[in-house]
Amino acid sequence: MEEKNNGLSRRAALGLGAASVAALAAGCAAAKPAGTSPSRAPGATATASPGGAGASSGQQTGTSSAGPSAGPDATASAQQMLSRATVPVLCYHQVREWTSKDSDYNRSSLIVPPKNLAAQLDGLLQAGYTFITPDDYWTHLQTGQGLPAKPVLLSFDDGKDNQVLAALPMVVERKIKATFFVMTVILGNPGWLSKDDVKRIADAGMTIGGHTWDHHPVTKYTGTDWSTQINKPRELLRKVSGQEVLDFAFPYGAWNAAALPHIKSAGFRDAYQLADKPTDAAEPQYTLRRYLANSSWDAKSIVAALAKDAAKTH
Ligand SMILES: [Zn+2]
Repeated sequence: MEEKNNGLSRRAALGLGAASVAALAAGCAAAKPAGTSPSRAPGATATASPGGAGASSGQQTGTSSAGPSAGPDATASAQQMLSRATVPVLCYHQVREWTSKDSDYNRSSLIVPPKNLAAQLDGLLQAGYTFITPDDYWTHLQTGQGLPAKPVLLSFDDGKDNQVLAALPMVVERKIKATFFVMTVILGNPGWLSKDDVKRIADAGMTIGGHTWDHHPVTKYTGTDWSTQINKPRELLRKVSGQEVLDFAFPYGAWNAAALPHIKSAGFRDAYQLADKPTDAAEPQYTLRRYLANSSWDAKSIVAALAKDAAKTH
């Protein structure tokens, strides 16, 4: 119970109100893109129980022997990376059937029915796309090499349990590599991933990335928030997954220049926002572009969307 109390007090210290908890449950995109108001976010099922896993960010129950390490520094110049950062990165959240309680926004942007996601993945595969990993993307950013003709990066945010129940079998069956950006406050909560789930996802060859402790936007952090939200969750995910955890996704896609040194010093080599292109001129690897997939895309329209994206960025 001490752990739970810690979680609650930390939540209180961070100023998490009802709106934040609702946004946390709804997912990354509550405040973005296109200036979406946070008030539109509620509607996705809110099952995060306050404090349930809060203290876990400082706990260790995994079996990995991974020791302390920092993420690799970039060796390419910002200009070189900016000239290379052209990989489309798709962001998904929940993989489940829509319910009558789901808002139009959540249906289009945060909840993809399994059959729609399957059609989208099959459409991309049939069109010759290859699903790459953040490692592949990083290598490309640093060297200009290492990418197939039609690269795409598939990512899932937050950590709802349908990501291991529905998405994981779907990508494994198709031999697709995907990335899962997990916020650690949810680990073990009903309806969310457990630590064992994270290990299972990692062991299936997927990449585990950081997504803060409780989805509070990095633009609001002060003092020990950086450790609570960035450093400790990364360490926990390293121990749970057995991976280095070098990739980070900003909650809501929100970032500012002051946040980037903290992301870097925590050991993340890169970070993903929710926008069409990298926007930090000095260190573009910490503002890599990524955007929400439309849940209603079918096999043809997702291919058309990526073709349109490629035309826009070349
Ligand atoms: Zn998120």
